[in-house]
Amino acid sequence: MTGPETAQYSELPSIDRLLNSAPAQILLAEHGRAEVKRAARELLASMRAAIAAGQGVDTGIEAICGEIGRIVGADSRAGMRRVINLSGTILHTNLGRALLPREAVDAAAEAMRANCTLEYDLESGRRGERDARIEQLLCRLTGAEAATVVNNNAAALMLTLNTLALGRAVPVSRGELVEIGGSFRIPDIIERSGCRLVEVGTTNRTHPRDFRAALGPQTAIILKVHQSNYVIEGFTAAVDERELALVCHEAGIPLVVDLGSGALLDMEQFGLPHEPTPMEALGKGADLVTFSGDKMLGGPQAGIILGRRDLIDLINANPMKRALRCDKVTIAALAALLEMYRHPERLRDRLPLLKTMLRGRAEIRAQAAPLAELLRRRLAQVASVELVDCDSEIGSGALPGRSIASAGIAIRPQASTRRQSRLLDDLAAAFRRLPVPVIGRIRNNEFVLDCRCLEDAGEFAAQLAELEIGR
Ligand SMILES: *Cc1c(COP(=O)(O)O)cnc(C)c1O
Repeated sequence: MTGPETAQYSELPSIDRLLNSAPAQILLAEHGRAEVKRAARELLASMRAAIAAGQGVDTGIEAICGEIGRIVGADSRAGMRRVINLSGTILHTNLGRALLPREAVDAAAEAMRANCTLEYDLESGRRGERDARIEQLLCRLTGAEAATVVNNNAAALMLTLNTLALGRAVPVSRGELVEIGGSFRIPDIIERSGCRLVEVGTTNRTHPRDFRAALGPQTAIILKVHQSNYVIEGFTAAVDERELALVCHEAGIPLVVDLGSGALLDMEQFGLPHEPTPMEALGKGADLVTFSGDKMLGGPQAGIILGRRDLIDLINANPMKRALRCDKVTIAALAALLEMYRHPERLRDRLPLLKTMLRGRAEIRAQAAPLAELLRRRLAQVASVELVDCDSEIGSGALPGRSIASAGIAIRPQASTRRQSRLLDDLAAAFRRLPVPVIGRIRNNEFVLDCRCLEDAGEFAAQLAELEIGR
């Protein structure tokens, strides 16, 4: 082989020469030998491929080391990172749901840093109960007889079903056979928990008589599932907890309610739409309720089960409890959070979720206005920028179909409609490439940044200089 390709191949440095070069020393010190070597191999292979394809490459050591630095740098940013959630969904499952209060974060950090009384009773010096304090707090706050906690609400439901209905029948209304997102579907959870689903009623209407007709000697419990992420409108009928509890108790079986979000506070007192509480469900006769720790409760990922002592005892005795239990970090954070609920008057200033939900449109507008101005100047050639009213969703299955008045920034590319969707995608991508990625949403030919969840406007503004559209 002769010609320019051969010459270029022979100009490529060996790995050893690269790693021994002066510019490589900074990379080695920063990222370690293995990482730099891996990136160098990857880069040299792609350079060889480029030469073979007849493309010219820069074989200088400086240029190659610069490229290696970019490769390792990009890789070290590939994992989970902090983002700024301007998506308009407050509890965004893909963005980590609830933000914890300082008190809970500190308690979690301490549990990680030092030994603790996770399962240790200081008084007697003997083994203690992992969930004891959480149970005590939950019972005080809700009036429930007993409580237990597991990894998440899906685990709570699975463990409840597997404990109370293994190998037996579980009637559920056809209007409540929910898919929450991803792989969580009520029919699959019931089946994989070892139970048999019995579908009751129709999609839009289910009556108490439908449940009575579905009961048999094989029926273990009735399950009611909160319609978390959808609404059924029009000619509808559902059987509420009180009626269902009657049906259950006539038959001598427990009523289990999966609340999904489960707020511990009456949201109406803050002018927010009503969200079902575990206290209401228990008050109407539910024997057990389950809900998430990181939805409307505003805490860490966890699944909480509240209700009858005898049923909770059975659940705790299920060997699967061990597989689904919470770790010490979650226990610490959840306990600290529940302590805060003992002083509900102060929650609106201390609980990030509540603070975020209670921000008024005017306040958000005032925060967004200077940012819109900055963006208008920054994007002058590319897009029009406007301060707009928008609506935030709570998300994660809380208050479906209801939204909270908010404000934000709408960016509309100046282009023919045909190119507009490309430009919208480019805009969204450019915001995602910022040092602290900003997540917005595309809606009606606009890229919208809902500023309800924006905590640090200064940080947002400071990084706008690095916004690069269409790279
Ligand atoms: C969110 C939700 C779940 C799942 O809860 P995770 O804590 O995410 O496991 C289950 N059921 C309902 C009704 C929900 O809304």
